[in-house]
Amino acid sequence: MQFIDLAQQQKRIRANLEKRIQAVLDHGQYIMGPEVLSLEHTLGEYVGVEHALACASGTDALLLALMAYGVGPGDVIFTTPFTFMATAEVIALLRAVPVFVDIDPVTFNMDPVQLEKAIHALRRRDSTTHPLPEGLLGEATEARGIMPVDLFGLPADYGPILALAESHDLFVIEDAAQSFGGERNGKKACGLAHIGCTSFFPAKPLGAYGDGGMCFTRDSGLQDTMLSLRIHGQGNNKYENLRIGINGRLDTLQAAILLEKFAIFPDELERRQEVAQRYREMLRAGGVRVAVPEVPPGYTSAWAQYSVLAPDAQSRETFLAALRAGGIPSAIYYPTPLHLQPAYRFLGYSSGDFPVSEDCAGRIFSLPMHPYLTREQQEQITAVLCSVKVP
Ligand SMILES: *Cc1c(COP(=O)(O)O)cnc(C)c1O
Repeated sequence: MQFIDLAQQQKRIRANLEKRIQAVLDHGQYIMGPEVLSLEHTLGEYVGVEHALACASGTDALLLALMAYGVGPGDVIFTTPFTFMATAEVIALLRAVPVFVDIDPVTFNMDPVQLEKAIHALRRRDSTTHPLPEGLLGEATEARGIMPVDLFGLPADYGPILALAESHDLFVIEDAAQSFGGERNGKKACGLAHIGCTSFFPAKPLGAYGDGGMCFTRDSGLQDTMLSLRIHGQGNNKYENLRIGINGRLDTLQAAILLEKFAIFPDELERRQEVAQRYREMLRAGGVRVAVPEVPPGYTSAWAQYSVLAPDAQSRETFLAALRAGGIPSAIYYPTPLHLQPAYRFLGYSSGDFPVSEDCAGRIFSLPMHPYLTREQQEQITAVLCSVKVP
């Protein structure tokens, strides 16, 4: 059994993939070929925003978005510690300061109540009401933006987050690396904030055969800046450079592959919903001792992961051992919240600062999840989980 089965998907579209790749080999425009523009147009339309910008990875998408706002030293960006390394990494890379905000225990996404506390605590430089990286907050340090993460495919709570952003004059960048295809109140993920950033890493809901990413925005000014930043800060021609940028282009070959994969994406998304629904029913019926994921009303998850919570750290080990013994792959996203990672030691956070993230990190684990998971495989997985006796 595979944790994410990409071979089944390939079998379904292999002939068309080969045709797409062949077409690129024939026209030879490996950099910024017509497939890149076509992908931007197609995915922009799907998300429902005016502008889409293909780039080299999800990490570059986040970096380009922050750079478009001119983020640098002295700027504070609020984000969560319960996420993949890249989310806070790009903030630190620009010498800005990530200020972590704890998550909601049910959705695993940024808790707007904690966000408001963090904003006020930063204003007053008062870490008694919310943990802050005190040593890094100089006189000139100022809150600039918020970077919520749509963890495991479920969009964050953008209603209150955008309201707070508005009243405190902050921008919001949606880390939608895992949520392409998700929805909130009828609006697609990637289009839920000022800029949405997704990833086409092979294991993401829409994955390439290599690295890739995309930025989405309704703001043509931001789009123009990101277009320039993506190619060394270019101006009106190749040899005019307006600003310091990066080499952040998406390969034409990856765009061609993504176009073909996108053709079956809506169907795959449907299948993911069915797989998630079956997990929920089967696990509940079996009286399993783990908490299954909740999707709040008005939301659709893209189900990048199906993550459950064991009662405690010790019982998680028991569940994982049972899965291993049954030949079933599993994973832990994420075993260490970012504020406790060595790389972020310079922020000066300590254990206990973000109790919900720390608690989830100790109990969470993810089950196989992909559009081609069969009922029989799910029966096998749930039978193992439901047979585990924990106190
Ligand atoms: C995968 C991921 C990224 C980075 O995407 P890459 O394409 O691997 O650079 C950023 N944030 C989150 C939440 C992710 O899951």
